[in-house]
Amino acid sequence: MSKIYSIFFLFFWISGFLFIHAQENLVYIKTGKLFDGRINQLRTDMVIVIKDNKIVSVGKDIAIPADATIIDLTGMTVLPGLIDAHTHIVLHSGNYEEQIIRETPEYRAIYGTVNAKATLEAGITTIRDVGNEGAGFADVALRDAVNKGIVPGPRIQVAIQPVSGTGSYALVGFSPYYFVPNISYEADGPSEIRKQVRRLIKEGADLIKVYMESFEKKQIRTDILTGALNYSKEELKILVEEAHRAGLPVAAHTYSDHAARLAIEVNVNSIEHGLYLSEETFQLMAEKNIYYVPTLLVYELWRDSKIFGQISIENKIKLTNTVEEHIKTFKRALKTPVKIVFGSDTFELPGTNAQEIELMVKYGMQSIDALKSATSIASDLLGLNDSVGTIEEGKFADIIAVKGNPVENISDLLKVVFVMKDGKIYLNKL
Ligand SMILES: [Zn+2]
Repeated sequence: MSKIYSIFFLFFWISGFLFIHAQENLVYIKTGKLFDGRINQLRTDMVIVIKDNKIVSVGKDIAIPADATIIDLTGMTVLPGLIDAHTHIVLHSGNYEEQIIRETPEYRAIYGTVNAKATLEAGITTIRDVGNEGAGFADVALRDAVNKGIVPGPRIQVAIQPVSGTGSYALVGFSPYYFVPNISYEADGPSEIRKQVRRLIKEGADLIKVYMESFEKKQIRTDILTGALNYSKEELKILVEEAHRAGLPVAAHTYSDHAARLAIEVNVNSIEHGLYLSEETFQLMAEKNIYYVPTLLVYELWRDSKIFGQISIENKIKLTNTVEEHIKTFKRALKTPVKIVFGSDTFELPGTNAQEIELMVKYGMQSIDALKSATSIASDLLGLNDSVGTIEEGKFADIIAVKGNPVENISDLLKVVFVMKDGKIYLNKL
Protein backbone atom coordinates (compact mmCIF):
# COMPACT_ATOMS: atom_id res chain seq x y z
CA MET A 1 0.00 0.00 0.00
CA SER A 2 2.62 2.49 1.02
CA LYS A 3 4.50 1.63 -2.16
CA ILE A 4 1.49 2.60 -4.32
CA TYR A 5 1.10 5.85 -2.35
CA SER A 6 4.69 6.72 -2.89
CA ILE A 7 4.44 5.97 -6.63
CA PHE A 8 1.34 8.23 -6.82
CA PHE A 9 3.12 10.87 -4.82
CA LEU A 10 6.12 10.66 -7.12
CA PHE A 11 3.87 10.91 -10.20
CA PHE A 12 2.07 14.01 -8.93
CA TRP A 13 5.30 15.55 -7.77
CA ILE A 14 6.94 15.08 -11.18
CA SER A 15 3.91 16.22 -13.20
CA GLY A 16 3.43 19.19 -10.88
CA PHE A 17 7.05 20.09 -11.27
CA LEU A 18 6.84 19.80 -15.07
CA PHE A 19 3.69 21.94 -15.15
CA ILE A 20 5.21 24.68 -13.03
CA HIS A 21 8.43 24.44 -14.99
CA ALA A 22 6.61 24.80 -18.32
CA GLN A 23 4.74 27.83 -16.96
CA GLU A 24 7.98 29.39 -15.82
CA ASN A 25 9.51 29.05 -19.26
CA LEU A 26 6.75 30.92 -21.05
CA VAL A 27 7.07 34.63 -21.71
CA TYR A 28 4.04 36.63 -22.87
CA ILE A 29 4.59 39.74 -24.96
CA LYS A 30 1.57 42.05 -25.08
CA THR A 31 1.66 44.18 -28.20
CA GLY A 32 -0.09 47.39 -29.16
CA LYS A 33 0.46 47.35 -32.91
CA LEU A 34 2.06 44.32 -34.53
CA PHE A 35 3.76 43.88 -37.89
CA ASP A 36 4.46 40.18 -38.29
CA GLY A 37 6.72 40.46 -41.34
CA ARG A 38 4.13 39.63 -43.99
CA ILE A 39 0.82 41.38 -43.42
CA ASN A 40 -0.34 44.52 -45.21
CA GLN A 41 -1.91 46.13 -42.16
CA LEU A 42 -0.80 46.27 -38.58
CA ARG A 43 -2.70 44.04 -36.18
CA THR A 44 -3.66 45.27 -32.75
CA ASP A 45 -3.65 43.83 -29.24
CA MET A 46 -1.94 40.58 -30.15
CA VAL A 47 -0.08 38.41 -27.68
CA ILE A 48 3.15 36.62 -28.56
CA VAL A 49 4.03 33.59 -26.45
CA ILE A 50 7.66 32.58 -26.22
CA LYS A 51 9.18 29.42 -24.81
CA ASP A 52 12.94 29.48 -24.43
CA ASN A 53 14.19 30.92 -27.73
CA LYS A 54 11.15 30.23 -29.92
CA ILE A 55 7.75 31.74 -30.61
CA VAL A 56 5.13 29.13 -29.68
CA SER A 57 1.98 31.09 -30.51
CA VAL A 58 0.67 34.44 -31.68
CA GLY A 59 -2.96 35.39 -31.19
CA LYS A 60 -5.57 37.77 -29.89
CA ASP A 61 -7.41 35.64 -27.37
CA ILE A 62 -4.53 34.09 -25.52
CA ALA A 63 -5.21 33.76 -21.81
CA ILE A 64 -2.30 35.03 -19.76
CA PRO A 65 -1.91 33.27 -16.39
CA ALA A 66 -1.86 35.59 -13.38
CA ASP A 67 1.69 34.67 -12.40
CA ALA A 68 3.09 34.72 -15.96
CA THR A 69 6.16 36.62 -17.10
CA ILE A 70 4.77 39.52 -19.15
CA ILE A 71 6.55 42.03 -21.33
CA ASP A 72 4.22 44.92 -21.95
CA LEU A 73 4.81 46.51 -25.36
CA THR A 74 1.25 47.82 -25.75
CA GLY A 75 2.37 51.42 -26.31
CA MET A 76 4.77 50.41 -29.10
CA THR A 77 4.86 48.93 -32.57
CA VAL A 78 6.28 45.41 -32.46
CA LEU A 79 8.13 43.94 -35.43
CA PRO A 80 10.38 41.01 -36.29
CA GLY A 81 14.07 41.78 -35.78
CA LEU A 82 15.33 43.58 -38.90
CA ILE A 83 17.63 41.89 -41.42
CA ASP A 84 20.30 43.98 -43.13
CA ALA A 85 21.42 42.06 -46.21
CA HIS A 86 24.49 44.16 -47.03
CA THR A 87 26.92 45.08 -44.27
CA HIS A 88 30.66 45.29 -43.65
CA ILE A 89 30.72 44.86 -39.89
CA VAL A 90 34.52 44.84 -39.51
CA LEU A 91 34.92 48.20 -41.19
CA HIS A 92 34.41 51.28 -39.03
CA SER A 93 34.24 55.05 -39.27
CA GLY A 94 37.32 56.83 -40.55
CA ASN A 95 39.57 56.51 -43.56
CA TYR A 96 38.93 53.28 -45.46
CA GLU A 97 42.47 52.69 -46.74
CA GLU A 98 44.06 53.48 -43.40
CA GLN A 99 41.99 50.74 -41.78
CA ILE A 100 43.22 48.17 -44.23
CA ILE A 101 46.84 49.27 -44.28
CA ARG A 102 47.49 50.44 -40.72
CA GLU A 103 45.19 48.30 -38.62
CA THR A 104 45.53 44.61 -37.93
CA PRO A 105 42.62 42.24 -38.48
CA GLU A 106 42.72 41.64 -34.72
CA TYR A 107 42.17 45.35 -33.97
CA ARG A 108 39.39 45.48 -36.52
CA ALA A 109 37.78 42.40 -35.01
CA ILE A 110 37.57 44.23 -31.67
CA TYR A 111 36.07 47.25 -33.39
CA GLY A 112 33.64 44.96 -35.21
CA THR A 113 32.57 43.47 -31.88
CA VAL A 114 31.55 46.94 -30.69
CA ASN A 115 29.77 47.57 -34.01
CA ALA A 116 27.92 44.26 -33.67
CA LYS A 117 26.49 45.28 -30.29
CA ALA A 118 25.43 48.70 -31.63
CA THR A 119 23.84 47.04 -34.67
CA LEU A 120 21.87 44.60 -32.53
CA GLU A 121 20.70 47.35 -30.18
CA ALA A 122 19.39 49.23 -33.24
CA GLY A 123 17.02 46.34 -33.87
CA ILE A 124 19.06 44.60 -36.57
CA THR A 125 19.02 40.99 -35.39
CA THR A 126 20.48 39.45 -38.57
CA ILE A 127 23.08 40.70 -41.03
CA ARG A 128 24.57 39.35 -44.22
CA ASP A 129 28.14 40.60 -44.19
CA VAL A 130 29.44 40.82 -47.74
CA GLY A 131 33.19 41.19 -47.35
CA ASN A 132 35.59 41.89 -44.51
CA GLU A 133 37.81 44.14 -46.66
CA GLY A 134 41.16 42.68 -45.75
CA ALA A 135 40.41 41.75 -42.13
CA GLY A 136 41.51 38.10 -42.24
CA PHE A 137 38.78 36.05 -40.62
CA ALA A 138 37.45 38.73 -38.28
CA ASP A 139 33.94 38.28 -39.70
CA VAL A 140 34.00 34.49 -39.28
CA ALA A 141 35.30 34.83 -35.71
CA LEU A 142 32.64 37.40 -34.85
CA ARG A 143 29.86 35.24 -36.31
CA ASP A 144 31.03 32.23 -34.32
CA ALA A 145 31.52 34.18 -31.08
CA VAL A 146 28.00 35.65 -31.39
CA ASN A 147 26.56 32.18 -32.07
CA LYS A 148 28.23 30.84 -28.93
CA GLY A 149 26.91 33.73 -26.85
CA ILE A 150 30.40 35.05 -26.08
CA VAL A 151 29.56 38.54 -27.34
CA PRO A 152 26.23 40.22 -28.16
CA GLY A 153 25.51 40.76 -31.83
CA PRO A 154 23.14 39.96 -34.67
CA ARG A 155 23.04 36.60 -36.39
CA ILE A 156 25.73 36.91 -39.06
CA GLN A 157 26.24 35.38 -42.49
CA VAL A 158 29.69 36.03 -43.93
CA ALA A 159 31.23 36.20 -47.40
CA ILE A 160 34.82 36.58 -46.01
CA GLN A 161 36.23 38.14 -49.20
CA PRO A 162 34.76 38.49 -52.67
CA VAL A 163 36.12 36.59 -55.64
CA SER A 164 37.43 38.86 -58.41
CA GLY A 165 39.77 38.84 -61.36
CA THR A 166 43.31 40.16 -60.91
CA GLY A 167 43.19 43.87 -60.14
CA SER A 168 39.41 44.00 -60.17
CA TYR A 169 38.97 44.69 -56.51
CA ALA A 170 42.10 45.90 -54.77
CA LEU A 171 43.42 49.05 -53.16
CA VAL A 172 44.47 51.38 -55.95
CA GLY A 173 47.14 54.06 -56.33
CA PHE A 174 50.01 52.16 -54.72
CA SER A 175 53.31 51.24 -56.30
CA PRO A 176 53.19 47.61 -57.48
CA TYR A 177 56.28 47.07 -55.29
CA TYR A 178 54.39 48.07 -52.19
CA PHE A 179 52.62 45.36 -50.23
CA VAL A 180 48.95 46.07 -49.54
CA PRO A 181 46.57 43.51 -48.02
CA ASN A 182 44.11 41.81 -50.35
CA ILE A 183 40.49 42.86 -50.19
CA SER A 184 39.41 40.08 -52.56
CA TYR A 185 40.46 36.56 -53.47
CA GLU A 186 41.85 37.00 -56.95
CA ALA A 187 41.11 34.27 -59.45
CA ASP A 188 41.46 34.19 -63.23
CA GLY A 189 40.05 31.45 -65.40
CA PRO A 190 37.74 28.58 -64.49
CA SER A 191 40.17 26.46 -62.46
CA GLU A 192 41.37 29.33 -60.25
CA ILE A 193 37.81 30.46 -59.70
CA ARG A 194 36.74 26.98 -58.72
CA LYS A 195 39.63 26.80 -56.29
CA GLN A 196 38.88 30.16 -54.63
CA VAL A 197 35.20 29.30 -54.21
CA ARG A 198 36.15 25.96 -52.67
CA ARG A 199 38.65 27.74 -50.43
CA LEU A 200 35.96 30.14 -49.20
CA ILE A 201 33.61 27.25 -48.46
CA LYS A 202 36.39 25.51 -46.53
CA GLU A 203 37.07 28.70 -44.57
CA GLY A 204 33.43 28.94 -43.50
CA ALA A 205 31.78 31.35 -45.94
CA ASP A 206 27.97 31.41 -45.91
CA LEU A 207 27.72 33.01 -49.36
CA ILE A 208 29.96 33.90 -52.28
CA LYS A 209 30.31 37.51 -53.38
CA VAL A 210 31.56 38.27 -56.86
CA TYR A 211 32.65 41.57 -58.36
CA MET A 212 31.00 41.94 -61.76
CA GLU A 213 32.65 45.34 -62.21
CA SER A 214 34.25 47.92 -59.96
CA PHE A 215 35.56 51.43 -60.18
CA GLU A 216 38.76 50.19 -58.59
CA LYS A 217 39.55 48.27 -61.77
CA LYS A 218 38.90 50.96 -64.32
CA GLN A 219 36.58 53.92 -64.70
CA ILE A 220 35.11 53.88 -68.18
CA ARG A 221 33.17 57.11 -67.82
CA THR A 222 33.99 60.27 -65.93
CA ASP A 223 30.45 61.51 -65.30
CA ILE A 224 29.09 58.57 -63.28
CA LEU A 225 30.54 55.75 -61.22
CA THR A 226 31.44 52.90 -63.56
CA GLY A 227 33.73 49.92 -63.81
CA ALA A 228 35.10 47.67 -66.50
CA LEU A 229 33.53 44.25 -66.68
CA ASN A 230 35.44 41.73 -64.64
CA TYR A 231 34.66 38.18 -65.74
CA SER A 232 33.65 36.30 -68.85
CA LYS A 233 30.42 34.34 -68.89
CA GLU A 234 32.38 31.09 -68.85
CA GLU A 235 34.17 32.11 -65.65
CA LEU A 236 30.98 33.29 -63.97
CA LYS A 237 29.19 30.05 -64.78
CA ILE A 238 31.88 28.09 -62.97
CA LEU A 239 31.72 30.41 -59.96
CA VAL A 240 27.96 30.08 -59.58
CA GLU A 241 27.99 26.33 -60.27
CA GLU A 242 30.65 25.74 -57.62
CA ALA A 243 28.87 27.90 -55.02
CA HIS A 244 25.46 26.39 -55.68
CA ARG A 245 26.81 22.85 -55.52
CA ALA A 246 27.69 23.59 -51.89
CA GLY A 247 24.35 25.30 -51.25
CA LEU A 248 25.83 28.79 -51.07
CA PRO A 249 24.06 31.71 -52.78
CA VAL A 250 25.95 34.21 -54.94
CA ALA A 251 25.74 37.99 -54.43
CA ALA A 252 26.86 40.01 -57.46
CA HIS A 253 28.34 43.49 -56.94
CA THR A 254 27.01 45.21 -60.07
CA TYR A 255 26.69 48.72 -61.49
CA SER A 256 25.67 48.51 -65.15
CA ASP A 257 22.71 46.98 -66.92
CA HIS A 258 24.86 44.75 -69.15
CA ALA A 259 26.75 43.37 -66.13
CA ALA A 260 23.41 42.64 -64.45
CA ARG A 261 22.22 40.81 -67.58
CA LEU A 262 25.33 38.62 -67.44
CA ALA A 263 24.82 37.93 -63.73
CA ILE A 264 21.19 37.02 -64.41
CA GLU A 265 22.21 34.68 -67.25
CA VAL A 266 24.45 32.68 -64.93
CA ASN A 267 21.79 32.60 -62.17
CA VAL A 268 23.30 34.60 -59.31
CA ASN A 269 20.95 35.03 -56.34
CA SER A 270 21.13 38.78 -55.82
CA ILE A 271 22.27 41.94 -57.55
CA GLU A 272 23.93 44.35 -55.10
CA HIS A 273 23.86 48.11 -55.81
CA GLY A 274 22.60 47.75 -59.42
CA LEU A 275 23.08 51.44 -60.09
CA TYR A 276 21.81 51.69 -63.67
CA LEU A 277 19.45 48.79 -64.30
CA SER A 278 16.58 48.96 -66.79
CA GLU A 279 12.99 48.02 -66.11
CA GLU A 280 13.36 45.01 -68.44
CA THR A 281 16.29 43.77 -66.38
CA PHE A 282 14.24 44.00 -63.19
CA GLN A 283 11.48 42.04 -64.95
CA LEU A 284 13.99 39.32 -65.79
CA MET A 285 15.21 39.27 -62.19
CA ALA A 286 11.64 38.87 -60.98
CA GLU A 287 11.07 35.97 -63.38
CA LYS A 288 14.20 34.21 -62.13
CA ASN A 289 13.65 35.10 -58.47
CA ILE A 290 16.86 37.14 -58.28
CA TYR A 291 16.76 39.74 -55.52
CA TYR A 292 17.73 43.41 -55.74
CA VAL A 293 19.70 44.96 -52.84
CA PRO A 294 19.94 48.63 -53.89
CA THR A 295 22.09 50.09 -51.03
CA LEU A 296 20.96 53.68 -51.66
CA LEU A 297 22.41 55.31 -48.58
CA VAL A 298 26.11 54.61 -49.01
CA TYR A 299 26.42 56.63 -52.23
CA GLU A 300 24.68 59.63 -50.66
CA LEU A 301 26.98 59.51 -47.64
CA TRP A 302 29.98 59.22 -49.93
CA ARG A 303 28.77 62.19 -52.03
CA ASP A 304 28.33 64.25 -48.87
CA SER A 305 31.83 63.36 -47.58
CA LYS A 306 30.30 61.54 -44.62
CA ILE A 307 32.28 58.41 -45.45
CA PHE A 308 35.66 57.94 -47.13
CA GLY A 309 36.68 61.45 -45.99
CA GLN A 310 36.57 64.69 -48.03
CA ILE A 311 36.12 64.18 -51.75
CA SER A 312 37.29 66.23 -54.74
CA ILE A 313 34.98 68.50 -56.76
CA GLU A 314 35.15 66.10 -59.73
CA ASN A 315 34.23 63.18 -57.50
CA LYS A 316 31.39 65.14 -55.97
CA ILE A 317 29.92 65.83 -59.42
CA LYS A 318 30.35 62.20 -60.40
CA LEU A 319 28.65 60.92 -57.23
CA THR A 320 25.86 63.49 -57.50
CA ASN A 321 25.08 62.11 -60.97
CA THR A 322 25.45 58.54 -59.73
CA VAL A 323 22.97 59.10 -56.91
CA GLU A 324 20.48 60.72 -59.31
CA GLU A 325 20.69 57.77 -61.69
CA HIS A 326 20.51 55.27 -58.83
CA ILE A 327 17.30 56.85 -57.53
CA LYS A 328 15.75 56.64 -61.02
CA THR A 329 16.80 52.99 -61.16
CA PHE A 330 15.22 52.28 -57.78
CA LYS A 331 11.98 53.88 -59.01
CA ARG A 332 12.09 51.66 -62.10
CA ALA A 333 12.50 48.62 -59.86
CA LEU A 334 9.37 49.64 -57.95
CA LYS A 335 7.34 49.39 -61.16
CA THR A 336 8.22 45.70 -61.48
CA PRO A 337 7.61 42.67 -59.25
CA VAL A 338 11.35 42.30 -58.45
CA LYS A 339 11.94 41.52 -54.80
CA ILE A 340 13.80 44.39 -53.14
CA VAL A 341 15.83 43.72 -50.00
CA PHE A 342 17.10 46.15 -47.39
CA GLY A 343 20.90 46.42 -47.33
CA SER A 344 22.58 49.45 -45.80
CA ASP A 345 26.26 49.08 -46.79
CA THR A 346 26.88 51.68 -44.07
CA PHE A 347 29.79 50.44 -42.01
CA GLU A 348 30.45 53.98 -40.87
CA LEU A 349 27.37 54.35 -38.77
CA PRO A 350 26.55 51.17 -36.91
CA GLY A 351 23.16 51.44 -35.35
CA THR A 352 21.73 53.72 -37.98
CA ASN A 353 21.21 51.06 -40.65
CA ALA A 354 17.48 51.83 -40.85
CA GLN A 355 18.28 55.15 -42.56
CA GLU A 356 18.44 53.04 -45.72
CA ILE A 357 14.80 52.08 -45.19
CA GLU A 358 13.93 55.76 -44.78
CA LEU A 359 15.45 56.41 -48.21
CA MET A 360 13.58 53.48 -49.80
CA VAL A 361 10.33 55.08 -48.64
CA LYS A 362 11.48 58.58 -49.59
CA TYR A 363 11.99 57.36 -53.17
CA GLY A 364 8.57 55.81 -53.50
CA MET A 365 8.35 52.46 -51.74
CA GLN A 366 5.27 51.92 -49.58
CA SER A 367 6.36 51.81 -45.94
CA ILE A 368 4.72 48.42 -45.38
CA ASP A 369 6.69 47.05 -48.36
CA ALA A 370 9.90 48.55 -46.99
CA LEU A 371 9.23 46.75 -43.69
CA LYS A 372 8.75 43.47 -45.58
CA SER A 373 12.00 44.05 -47.46
CA ALA A 374 13.79 44.26 -44.11
CA THR A 375 12.08 41.18 -42.63
CA SER A 376 10.32 38.38 -44.52
CA ILE A 377 11.78 39.14 -47.98
CA ALA A 378 15.28 39.51 -46.58
CA SER A 379 14.95 36.18 -44.76
CA ASP A 380 14.01 34.55 -48.09
CA LEU A 381 17.18 35.89 -49.71
CA LEU A 382 19.30 34.69 -46.78
CA GLY A 383 17.70 31.24 -46.89
CA LEU A 384 16.49 31.73 -43.32
CA ASN A 385 12.74 31.91 -43.85
CA ASP A 386 12.11 28.89 -41.68
CA SER A 387 13.78 30.55 -38.69
CA VAL A 388 13.69 34.38 -38.78
CA GLY A 389 12.03 37.31 -40.58
CA THR A 390 8.49 36.90 -39.26
CA ILE A 391 6.68 36.70 -35.95
CA GLU A 392 5.08 33.29 -36.33
CA GLU A 393 4.83 30.05 -34.44
CA GLY A 394 8.04 28.06 -34.68
CA LYS A 395 10.33 30.99 -35.50
CA PHE A 396 13.19 32.17 -33.31
CA ALA A 397 12.09 34.91 -30.93
CA ASP A 398 13.78 37.83 -32.71
CA ILE A 399 11.43 40.64 -31.76
CA ILE A 400 11.85 44.39 -31.59
CA ALA A 401 9.67 47.30 -30.54
CA VAL A 402 9.80 50.91 -31.67
CA LYS A 403 8.12 54.06 -30.42
CA GLY A 404 5.43 55.36 -32.72
CA ASN A 405 4.23 53.73 -35.92
CA PRO A 406 6.73 53.15 -38.76
CA VAL A 407 3.92 52.46 -41.24
CA GLU A 408 2.79 56.07 -40.83
CA ASN A 409 6.25 57.50 -40.24
CA ILE A 410 9.10 55.28 -41.40
CA SER A 411 11.62 57.27 -39.32
CA ASP A 412 10.07 55.70 -36.21
CA LEU A 413 12.06 52.61 -37.16
CA LEU A 414 15.09 54.39 -35.71
CA LYS A 415 13.35 54.74 -32.33
CA VAL A 416 14.08 51.23 -31.10
CA VAL A 417 13.27 50.69 -27.43
CA PHE A 418 13.26 46.91 -27.11
CA VAL A 419 15.34 44.17 -28.72
CA MET A 420 15.00 40.44 -28.17
CA LYS A 421 17.10 37.97 -30.10
CA ASP A 422 16.80 34.23 -29.71
CA GLY A 423 14.47 34.79 -26.76
CA LYS A 424 17.02 36.90 -24.90
CA ILE A 425 16.54 40.61 -24.21
CA TYR A 426 19.44 42.81 -25.38
CA LEU A 427 17.81 46.23 -25.09
CA ASN A 428 15.02 47.38 -22.84
CA LYS A 429 14.36 51.12 -22.70
CA LEU A 430 10.70 50.76 -21.75
ZN1 LIG B 1 29.32 46.76 -49.79
